[in-house]
This record gives sequence, C-alpha cells and structure tokens, in this order.
Amino acid sequence: MVDVIVPCPSCFSKNRVVNFEKKAFCGKCKSPLPSLNRVYDLSDTNFQKFLERISLPVVVDFWAPWCGPCRMVHPILDKFAEEFVGRVFFARVNVDENQMVARNFGIMSIPTLMLFKNGNSVDKIVGAYPEEYLKNWITSNI
Ligand SMILES: [Zn+2]
Repeated sequence: MVDVIVPCPSCFSKNRVVNFEKKAFCGKCKSPLPSLNRVYDLSDTNFQKFLERISLPVVVDFWAPWCGPCRMVHPILDKFAEEFVGRVFFARVNVDENQMVARNFGIMSIPTLMLFKNGNSVDKIVGAYPEEYLKNWITSNI
C-alpha cells in the first residue's frame, strides 16, 4: 500500500498516513488530520504551508455560499475525493472568508478549480463543468 505525507493543518508537521480509512491524528500536536477521502476546507492561515507539504497533487475548489454553480461542483468533488483517495487530495476555499488566498491566486470568478503540485499551481478551470470533463482534466494533469 502506498503511504501519503499529510501535513498537520495546525502545526504543519509532516505525518505519514498509511490507512486512508482510519481517522488519523498529528503525531506532534494530536490535532485531527484531514481525511484523505473527503474534501477539506483550507483557509488563509494554512493554505500555503499545507499545499507545500502534502505529497499528493491537490485540486482546490474556490467557492462561496451564494454561488449557484458552485453547488453543482460540490457533489462531484465529494465523489472524486472517494474515487481518487490516495492519489489526489481535494480541498475547498471559501473566497468570502479567505480573501488573501483568493487575491494571491487572482480568483476573479467562481467556481474556479486549481490543480497544485508541490505547492505550485499547474492548471485551472473557471466555471462549472460536467463530471466527465472534470475527471479528464484531473487525470490528464496528475
Ligand atoms: Zn500537529
């Protein structure tokens, strides 16, 4: 089984996670680690450090609660998080609450999906697209 390095969202220690189903905690500060099969909410506070330390490619969904098309993308990504467990990590950023990250990446319109590797953005999609299209986009970029 492949193991994954998951940074702690509080202290940013790197944790090795082998069992993707089991709830894991940070070896250093005991904070809960993000579940690899769920979409995880990142914030201005932990976004950059988390993305630089995780060993998986990360798809980030920039969204806001008032955005209708964003609600169509959410269930698709929830499903992908299960499907791509251990291969891709899925995260969300609420742009109303995390304006620094949104500004840093020039998010002008939502939903915007960005794909990161080693903390660097490699591609992005602006707008809501069907499941098959999004799946092809992810698989061709990882
Ligand atoms: Zn920790």
